[in-house]
Amino acid sequence: MSETDELAGLSEEERRHKLRTQKHKAVVDARIATAKVDKGLLLVLTGNGKGKSSSAFGMVARMLGYGRKVAIFQFIKGKQDVGERAFLSRQPGVTWENCGEGFTWETQNRARDIAAAEAGWEKARAALSDPEIALVVLDELTYLVTYRYLDLDEVTKALRERPAMQHVVVTGRAAHADLIEMADTVSAIRDEKHAFRAGVRAQQGIDL
Ligand code: ATP
Ligand code: MG
Repeated sequence: MSETDELAGLSEEERRHKLRTQKHKAVVDARIATAKVDKGLLLVLTGNGKGKSSSAFGMVARMLGYGRKVAIFQFIKGKQDVGERAFLSRQPGVTWENCGEGFTWETQNRARDIAAAEAGWEKARAALSDPEIALVVLDELTYLVTYRYLDLDEVTKALRERPAMQHVVVTGRAAHADLIEMADTVSAIRDEKHAFRAGVRAQQGIDL
């Protein structure tokens, strides 16, 4: 069908819409055609708004959909039971490690927190050198760097030297500038509103 035939019989408004969307599609298609690189990505999901860890687990679900292996390291919230752990830790292809003793204001023991962080990091480092693992989630890792429980240079070195096609998602508030700098994709989620401030406690399936 020629362009004239395609536009025949359309109202002026429909015609204008068609021409506008055609132009838009050409721009989008041209942009997509220029993106040809495949590589393991480092993503940093930070900011004070809700949606960092749950986004990471969305990518875990995607990756598992391709039958690939995923390793998840949950730092900080070691003792808390969350729905994603109950579900994901029993899926084939998933390694789940809880590497935290709980929030610092609950443990109130810096030495124990550091020991837990270091033990967790040792396991994470092994995953970061295993090319069979397609996606590594370092949930709440940002705090360990900020509180200096882990050495920043050691963390960035392991991230830089990981297998070329391995993807890594780091979550947590106040990500260090160096992590943001080296990441390929960074999203800072803004806290516009949170139900907690209206007195709503954490809801199963939404918050944990
Ligand atoms: P989620 O796991 O829901 O994606 P998150 O990873 O972005 O959240 P965290 O800082 O890890 O956020 O906190 C996790 C828990 O704290 C969740 O129960 C979440 O609903 C809650 N939470 C997140 N942001 C806020 C906020 N700004 N105020 C109050 N509670 C929050
Ligand atoms: Mg989180």
